[in-house]
This record gives sequence, C-alpha cells and structure tokens, in this order.
Amino acid sequence: MDTMKARQSAGLKVADLMIAAEKVAHVQLNNPLEHALLVLVKSGYSAVPVLDGSYKLVGTIGKTSILNQIIGLEHFEGEKLSQIYVREVINTDVSTLKKDDTFMDGLDKVINDPFVCVADGEGYFDGILTRRAILKQIKRDTYHE
Ligand code: AMP
Repeated sequence: MDTMKARQSAGLKVADLMIAAEKVAHVQLNNPLEHALLVLVKSGYSAVPVLDGSYKLVGTIGKTSILNQIIGLEHFEGEKLSQIYVREVINTDVSTLKKDDTFMDGLDKVINDPFVCVADGEGYFDGILTRRAILKQIKRDTYHE
C-alpha cells in the first residue's frame, strides 16, 4: 500500500486548478438583466461573476435572483428584464480566493459554493475555482492518478 506517497494537492496553489478569466463567462454591472439571463441560459451556468468596467470583481449573479425580480402575482413580467440592471440584483456577499492560496484554502471555500472567484490584491478578476476542479484533484490524490 502506498500510504507514504505525498498527496499531489499538498503542493498545489489555486492558480494551478482555476479556470482563467478569459475562459470564464461573466457579466458587467451596467448590463440589463436580459443580457445576464441570456448569458446564464446560453452558457448553462446557474451563476456567473460580475465585473465592473475595469474588470474588477464585484460579485456574482444567478438565475434565481433574476427570476425573483420578474415574478409577478400572476405571471412573469418579462418587460422588467430591460429595465433592471445587474448592479441592482448582484450578490456582493461572496468569498474570494487569491491565486497564491493553497489547495486547502480552495477546498474550504468550495464547500459552500459550486465556484469561488479568484481576484488579485487590487480586486482584478483572475478566474474561478470550481468545486468540480477540487473534486477531480481529490480523486487524483485518492487513486494516485
Ligand atoms: P462546474 O463545476 O463546471 O459544474 O461549475 C460550477 C459552476 O461554476 C457553474 O454552475 C457556474 O456557475 C460556474 N462556472 C463553471 N465554469 C464556468 C465558466 N467557464 N464561466 C462562468 N462560470 C463558470
């Protein structure tokens, strides 16, 4: 049995497992909700990061919070999608990681969220770390792949 073999994850940083910013679907603060919903539905993701005009991370936005905005008493009020903006619906209460954070820091944060945003010291968006990437690494460690 290979119990002495060091876990590969012990030496990994968030940067090694994250999806880089240029491959991450995002929306901007000043987009109307109809654009955000389009991005979410077309990408198939339930939530994506929200950036400001200088590509700094501000929070996330998800399908449920958008649909909550347009739910009326009897029907969906779809016309509101062009009248309400991402900045009014954004979730800013999100935890973040830095590229230099450890695998264990990442594991800790994806317990509560399917993905966590990665930003630098000035708040510029670097990418996301997904629960899937962490789980795949744990599988590699477990089976010494
Ligand atoms: P996954 O682990 O691939 O199922 O992704 C979990 C969540 O992370 C998705 O539901 C999205 O909210 C987010 N996500 C994953 N990949 C991307 C991407 N390329 N662009 C934007 N969001 C993503």
